[in-house]
Amino acid sequence: MNTLHNYHTHTHYSDGSSAPVEYIEEAVRQGFSALGFSEHSVLPFENTFALKPGSEAAYTSEIRKLRETFSDRIEVLLALEADYIPTLSTGFEKLKQSLGLDYIIGSVHLVGNSYPDNLWFIDGPKRETYDEGLKQFYNGDIRKAVTAYWHQINSMLENESFAIIGHLDKIKMHNQGRWFREDEKWYASLVNETLALIAEKEVIVEVNTRGIYKGRSDSLFPGETILRIIHERNIPVTISSDAHQPSEISLLFGQAEEMLKKCGIRSVSRYNHGIWSEVGIV
Ligand SMILES: [Zn+2]
Ligand SMILES: [Zn+2]
Repeated sequence: MNTLHNYHTHTHYSDGSSAPVEYIEEAVRQGFSALGFSEHSVLPFENTFALKPGSEAAYTSEIRKLRETFSDRIEVLLALEADYIPTLSTGFEKLKQSLGLDYIIGSVHLVGNSYPDNLWFIDGPKRETYDEGLKQFYNGDIRKAVTAYWHQINSMLENESFAIIGHLDKIKMHNQGRWFREDEKWYASLVNETLALIAEKEVIVEVNTRGIYKGRSDSLFPGETILRIIHERNIPVTISSDAHQPSEISLLFGQAEEMLKKCGIRSVSRYNHGIWSEVGIV
């Protein structure tokens, strides 16, 4: 395994289990060169997973202190996994500047643009939530619902500035072969449209192992078909575990590297003192 860094980590500041120092100690133990913290950005409505309003200062100052304490052993990075919800979420550049972040992961967990009457939660542990939203907001029209997800990602790419796109095809997680197939023409065309935009905007695609180790998906986010197009389009990638516990910081990284190689991808992006560069996987 060559990937000894993880840029997607949640602690008890959002929906993770433990204090930041516990993740860093585990990363040092595993010989990591860098660990990035990426709490969920604050959202303007009640929810169970994001940073609480007003807690950004405590989060950022704790991570900065730890960066100093551990500077001789590991590079500690300060980031956010920013939710993109048109008309509701805070601009990414504003977040980055005001909090002094190293980078932003842009993600879509909620599809729609108004709370509570039109916001479909596509993530979380329960597929019932997904199914209920599909029925309530889209009358059960899966094609319309899935199109809204990919178009919201396109809108994020067009309107926001960020380094990494999080769990690109998470929309498939609660589908589990029930509503649509990924080889259907309309789905493949949505994916292609978004990948063209990602290549144009030069965003790094995260290869996220969490769905597999949590038993919620039998493939990576994104899966093999998308990874092959990513290779063809020469889009940079980074492997992450989206860790919510210290024991999860490098789960299935070996398996993810094998999949990348199978798809022809031979390098991953690495952050080093403000600059993203490519490092080979062998
Ligand atoms: Zn996420
Ligand atoms: Zn996450």
